[in-house]
Amino acid sequence: MDKAFFIDTTVCTACRGCQVACKQWHDLPAEKTTNRGTIENPPDLSFDTYKLVRFREQVVDNKLHWLFFPEQCRHCISPPCQDTAGDPGAIYTDPATGSVQYTAETRFLNADEIIASCPYNIPRKSADGTLAKCDMCIDRVQNGLLPACVQTCPTGAMNFGDKDKMRKLADQRLAEVKKTHPKAQLIDPDDVRVIYLVAFDPKLYYEHAMASASDVGLTRHLALKKMVRPLGEMVSRLI
Ligand code: SF4
Ligand code: SF4
Ligand code: SF4
Repeated sequence: MDKAFFIDTTVCTACRGCQVACKQWHDLPAEKTTNRGTIENPPDLSFDTYKLVRFREQVVDNKLHWLFFPEQCRHCISPPCQDTAGDPGAIYTDPATGSVQYTAETRFLNADEIIASCPYNIPRKSADGTLAKCDMCIDRVQNGLLPACVQTCPTGAMNFGDKDKMRKLADQRLAEVKKTHPKAQLIDPDDVRVIYLVAFDPKLYYEHAMASASDVGLTRHLALKKMVRPLGEMVSRLI
C-alpha cells in the first residue's frame, strides 16, 4: 500500500527528537559544528544527516514568528532524481511503499546532476560520490513499525500511514489551521509522499521548502515529461 507522511509544522516545537532518532536508527555519526547563533544544527543536510529541523525567525504582519521545518526527502511520486539517474540498480521506487531508495551503486552516477535534479535540494554525496538521503526507514516499515522520526515525535507533528489517509488528515488539519492562519497551505500535496502543512508562505520556512516555477527540478521535469511522452508514443507507433 502506498505510504506517505503528513508533517504538521504548526505543532512542531523544534525539539529535534526526529533528527536524533533518524541518526540513531541509521547509526549515522555526529557532525562537528560551531555555534552559529541558531538552533538549526548542523547547518545543512549531509551524507550523514538525512533529517534536519530548519529554523527561521520571520516577522509576519508585524509579529515575530519562529518557523520550524523538519526537512527530509519528499519521496516524490514522479521522482526527478530517479529519472535523471536512469539506473534502477542505483535509484528505484519501492513498489510496496512508493518510497524512493538509493543504493551504493549511486557512486557510479553523476552526483552533481542528480542533486541538481531534485527540486527540494535533498541528496548529498560522500567523498567517493555515493549519494544518501532519507529512506523512509524502509526496514522498519517493512516490519510493521513506524519510521523512527515519526515514532519519536512527541507532539503529533510527524504522521505516517497509508497515502489516502495521510492526505485526508492533511486536508482536515489545513481546514482547522486556516481558521486562524488564512495563508496556511499544504506544500505540493499532489506531487510528493511527504506532505507539509505550513501556516505561512513556504518560502519563509526555507528557500527549498516547495518546488516553484523558478526551481529547475520538479517543474522542469514534469514539463519535459509532458513533452516527451507524446513524442515517445509517436515513435512507438512508427516502429
Ligand atoms: Fe518537531 Fe516532532 Fe521533530 Fe520535535 S520530533 S522537531 S516536534 S517534528
Ligand atoms: Fe528524489 Fe529529491 Fe524527490 Fe527525494 S525529494 S525523491 S531526492 S527528487
Ligand atoms: Fe530519517 Fe527514517 Fe525519518 Fe527518513 S523516515 S527522516 S530515514 S528517521
